[in-house]
Amino acid sequence: MKYFAYKDDNHITCLLCKHYCTLKEGKSAICGVNFNIDAKLVNKTYGHPSTLHIDPIEKKPLYHFLPSSSSLSIGTVGCNFSCPFCQNHSISQISVVDESVNYSPKDIVDLAFKHKTQSISYTYNEPTIWYPYAKDIGVLAKENGIKNVFVSSGYESKEVLQDMKSWVDAVNIDLKSFSHEYYKKVLKTDLDGVLASLIEFAHSDIWLEITTLIIPDINDSEDEIHKMAKFISLKLGVDIPWHLSAFHPDYKMLDTPRTSEASLQRVKEIAQSYGLKYIYLGNILNDNSTYCSQCNTKLIDRQGFKAQMLNIKNNKCIKCQSSIKGVF
Ligand code: SF4
Repeated sequence: MKYFAYKDDNHITCLLCKHYCTLKEGKSAICGVNFNIDAKLVNKTYGHPSTLHIDPIEKKPLYHFLPSSSSLSIGTVGCNFSCPFCQNHSISQISVVDESVNYSPKDIVDLAFKHKTQSISYTYNEPTIWYPYAKDIGVLAKENGIKNVFVSSGYESKEVLQDMKSWVDAVNIDLKSFSHEYYKKVLKTDLDGVLASLIEFAHSDIWLEITTLIIPDINDSEDEIHKMAKFISLKLGVDIPWHLSAFHPDYKMLDTPRTSEASLQRVKEIAQSYGLKYIYLGNILNDNSTYCSQCNTKLIDRQGFKAQMLNIKNNKCIKCQSSIKGVF
């Protein structure tokens, strides 16, 4: 795909995310890492990861995608959102690139081989804004039998969404609220754009899971939770796993209290009332095993980030033969 379009003699349009920033010669825009240099889009983070870890895939979180496998996880710097609760703000809210750290796409794939990971995850900061680097790694990984995972806030441009279908295997998308005003005023993006991405992923071959950080008095009203659950159920499907994470004070929201377990359980009950089959609670101690939605047999045992496949074969419950969606 083309990562930018010419606008006029002195400007290009970045095609990486739905902001579609107009970039003046020599300048960047919202994310601070994509520049117009000599009328071309230059991504300053290319080849310079800020973070590299081997994580359990459960930590992304992905619960219905290669359970108990490990994933080489890579992030850079910058973001196209401005979330005041960001837990990775030390890398997402800066645009200073450490150019002394150099990893070519082949170096990253070699690392995945060395550590025997089944996938590479593009995560920690928004991968859409460094899509050219992620894709060069991912295409090479795919050629070598390694799967690719995007952990994103779902503001990919329509061009990137289309392009991802050729090389990305799974995504976890944040649905941060169901308030247009909150997305616009606080997060500085647009709810409709995220919902459009979710619908696109749900109807593609890319495996989709969703995460919502439940924040007291911000996005946990009965009305808002009902709207989210209804949207997932009607527009995406009742088989999509939904991860509800407990907020803890961070970044610019140090005075907001933690999310209580009772509050998460209440959200879970609302979600289940819309027929959603797989609701998981994060950042609290809780039984996060996967159960058959028909006969309640435990299919995958999960203790923290450790998972063990129990009664599942060929995407079916061994006991009652009901289907379970995912990549197992
Ligand atoms: S990635 Fe998004 S925020 Fe960054 S320059 Fe491109 S359109 Fe703007």
